[in-house]
Amino acid sequence: MSKITTEKLHHALKHFFGYDEFRLTQQSIIESVLDREDTLAIMPTGAGKSICYQLPAMLLPGITIVISPLIALMKDQVDALQANGIYGAFLNSSQSPDEQRRIIEDAKKGAIKLLYIAPERIPANSDTFFTFLKGLNPSLFAIDEAHCISSWGHDFRPEYLKLAILKKQFPGIPVIALTASADKVTQKDIVEKLALSHPKIYISSFNRPNINYYIQPKKNAFGHILEYIKKHKDDCGIIYALSRASTEDIAGNLHKAGIKAAYYHAGMDSAERGRVQEAFQRDEYKVIVATIAFGMGIDKSNVRFVIHHDVSKNVEGYYQETGRAGRDGLRSDAILFYSFGDIMKLRRFAEVEGNPQQSAISQKKLQLMQEYCEHEGCRRQYLMQYFGEQFPAYCGSCDYCLSSLEEKDATVDAQKLLSAVFRTGERYGAGYIIDFIRGSASEKIQPDHKLLKTYGIGKELKKEEWQWMVQQLLYHHFLDKTEDQYATLKLNEKSWKVLKGESQIKLVLRKEKEVVAEEQEPEYDPRLLKILKGVRFDFAERENVPDYNIIADNSLVEMAIYLPETFDELKHISGFGDYKVSKYGAGFLKVIKEFAKEHNLPSRMHFKTPKRATKEKKERKEKPAVGNTMHTTFAMFNDGMSVAEIADQRRLSPMTIETHLSVFVATGEIDISKFVSNSKLSQILSVIKSSGQTHALKPIKDLLSDDYTYGEIRMAMEYYKRINS
Ligand code: ADP
Ligand code: ZN
Repeated sequence: MSKITTEKLHHALKHFFGYDEFRLTQQSIIESVLDREDTLAIMPTGAGKSICYQLPAMLLPGITIVISPLIALMKDQVDALQANGIYGAFLNSSQSPDEQRRIIEDAKKGAIKLLYIAPERIPANSDTFFTFLKGLNPSLFAIDEAHCISSWGHDFRPEYLKLAILKKQFPGIPVIALTASADKVTQKDIVEKLALSHPKIYISSFNRPNINYYIQPKKNAFGHILEYIKKHKDDCGIIYALSRASTEDIAGNLHKAGIKAAYYHAGMDSAERGRVQEAFQRDEYKVIVATIAFGMGIDKSNVRFVIHHDVSKNVEGYYQETGRAGRDGLRSDAILFYSFGDIMKLRRFAEVEGNPQQSAISQKKLQLMQEYCEHEGCRRQYLMQYFGEQFPAYCGSCDYCLSSLEEKDATVDAQKLLSAVFRTGERYGAGYIIDFIRGSASEKIQPDHKLLKTYGIGKELKKEEWQWMVQQLLYHHFLDKTEDQYATLKLNEKSWKVLKGESQIKLVLRKEKEVVAEEQEPEYDPRLLKILKGVRFDFAERENVPDYNIIADNSLVEMAIYLPETFDELKHISGFGDYKVSKYGAGFLKVIKEFAKEHNLPSRMHFKTPKRATKEKKERKEKPAVGNTMHTTFAMFNDGMSVAEIADQRRLSPMTIETHLSVFVATGEIDISKFVSNSKLSQILSVIKSSGQTHALKPIKDLLSDDYTYGEIRMAMEYYKRINS
């Protein structure tokens, strides 16, 4: 087949879907499909897999058959296509026979471009079905959520195995399989089970730069959640909790606090679940509190936050859930409340009776989840490495990168804490000890304890600082905790060494948040945005579809920023394909014009640089995805300043500066010899290698003699990762 030009592909993308640029590997995937190659596309959730078969469907003659496992998702996809003036339809068990017949008629007439079919509609050996499909003369098969075919994956669906017949029945028709599952075994399984022939495989980066990752100690989690939601009252989000009961509790309490929240879990009947999901899609509920059962069928692009009230069972699940935030590319938050207690609870659940192998895998995955939560480094880097990608040690948008860190001698503070544990008889949990050490007047503190000398010796530190200290002491085994519900703090041998002054403690302490220079977002008038939302709402009401089906939030924001005046200008706003411009353009342009006139605002369309022209430049600039603050550090370092001098001048801790610079060691822009002598380097590298530890510094430091600093180890670790990538 003759290659379609890039120009034509972009034109089609804009015409049918209103987008200016392809994301990630979309373009290559589409080209591969148009070349009639079998293709496996692996892309994170929300990255835009649908376009990979929808655009070819529009460019190929005839019909494209899409196999998709979730009925709710199908309807959504078809609605979205309809909103772009494309006739898509689905066949599944939710329809009446009449409805199905009508669709089949339309398909036979060649009116339908994309036909979504649920896998259970493919009978194992029904000739009639394949005869029917052959009669439609399909040009392409798309298998969505293709990991469902693999029993290794986390969502095996036996019906998917029937798809193995496809390649036999239609040997000449290309198949595109799509999934967000990055697991190698699953990939191999998909290719084999679908019998794809010499497939082209495309794997996109799993990084979701618009999502900020935060992990917070789980302490008054509900209070923090409520505070967060109140601060973001126009946003909608999902809160995940482990048990059905707690989803109901949390949703109930949010409701009492005046927040439009609902719960969702597998114990509800499917009609009720459908209702909640639908209402969330339409923004009637702002917040859904759900067990993990919620989400696969969700295609809501403006989810602004995903909160994990409890720790997840594994990193894959966690990442997939956080990935439901920010599909529209706007800034979103992923927040997890971490407690070791949750890990303990999950350890029990991870045991699969009679299946030691499966139990071991689950336990290992849980252990890695714990490691992620306790990781002393960039969260994003950890996640990317978990999925097999290299990433610099600093992302600038996770809780670690946003707080400036300091390595401090914490021996005296630790002694205070440990002796408080000792004096109160090793019978209390962290909460009590912290109240005690800070001299709380609360009645909860026993009267005789108020007479002890250690009562109130830790007033100078904040509660959160003591909490952090306890966590760090536990993490480094300077303190133990019972594994029952009381989580009583206990001293151990290492604690006594500290108490006797025989051993010193250096801890990584968090200082106040460093204000990271944020990329300036262009301004718009929120009143106009509100008006635009109103216009969209009216369209949505009239058509009885969710708001974002008319046009996504980010398109509204763009209109409010650039104030397009004409249909032509509107075409430059993301999300406006020709169909949407002609259908909704007048409605939006009218209110923009009115608003601009009333407030005397000129169009700012000339500020909107065509993205494609600047893309190359941007890509070059973006290469190491690092923030400005690090480049400042880097420039100062190149000017010959030492770490201490830079720290002094920038009022950051030396450790933060080292963290910045380590990124450039990782990219090879700074020579490792500037930080670590040759002999030390080889020593550190061999310890890293033999321990297999490439995240945490402390275990490596423990294996080396005292004259190795954290800074040296950090640099060597980055160097190690670079040469082994
Ligand atoms: P996935 O199936 O990978 O989870 P979707 O296909 O549902 O993701 O796409 C997620 C969102 O991104 C949708 O709202 C979609 O319209 C949008 N999108 C897809 N491709 C692009 C693009 N090239 N430019 C802008 N938005 C896009
Ligand atoms: Zn980070």
